[in-house]
Amino acid sequence: HHPDRSTVWVGRPGQQVPIGPETFTFIAGPCAVESPQQTLEAAQMAKSAGATILRGGAYKPRTSPYAFQGLGIAGLEILGAVGEATGLPIVTEVVDARDVAVVAEHADMLQVGTRNMANFGLLQAVGDAGRPVLLKRGMTATIEEWLMAAEYIAQRGNLDVVLCERGIRTFEPSTRNTLDISAVPVVQATSHLPIIVDPSHASGRKDLVVPLSRAAIAVGADGVIVDVHPTPETALCDGPQALLGAELRDLAQAVRRLPDLV
Ligand code: PEP
Repeated sequence: HHPDRSTVWVGRPGQQVPIGPETFTFIAGPCAVESPQQTLEAAQMAKSAGATILRGGAYKPRTSPYAFQGLGIAGLEILGAVGEATGLPIVTEVVDARDVAVVAEHADMLQVGTRNMANFGLLQAVGDAGRPVLLKRGMTATIEEWLMAAEYIAQRGNLDVVLCERGIRTFEPSTRNTLDISAVPVVQATSHLPIIVDPSHASGRKDLVVPLSRAAIAVGADGVIVDVHPTPETALCDGPQALLGAELRDLAQAVRRLPDLV
């Protein structure tokens, strides 16, 4: 029943960044926080390419329990320090309702990942946390299920929800997931919430990040969130999808140019 498309503001007073119809928001950072140095370098790459929000995972929901699970609270502290140093607001994932308070202490925006989109207790907890929420689409969720997940957050009085299309599971193995680009206009026809696209986690391939970002802009998304890493070959998580600084700058240029073309 919201008449206009919403803008969600991320960050502390004085450094707030909008996500919504008036602008195209560029979020970048490492998939996982690995060390102070790696996070700072990735944040500097993101900022110098024009990103206005820093992403980075301290809690990593991995398919394998033997894979790097993130640095937890130490990772949040690194993110907080790097956010201070660069002036970039932070978005980071929370995977467990018990961690919501500590994540909200360090982060400007709480991310709920694809694997937790239908974790209703977690959705209610982030709804109570007093921070904007980035809600990724479940990899097997319909758009209606995704919007209902957003309602779980809204029902707690938190309307600062940004949706993120990050690919769905299909029969096609060339990409890790299939980016459902049609989700953007479908959501916009139904919901007032801003919607951004994650071409990195959708494809799992860095060569597809720029073309899929162009598609996101062309279809009317409110932003993109992309992985960047100073040394993708040593990354502890999702190195093959991470851009280097120069590649991120090329992407930012494409982002800036495309609105004139469509
Ligand atoms: C992420 O953004 O770090 C992430 C794990 O994404 P997704 O939940 O979309 O897989």
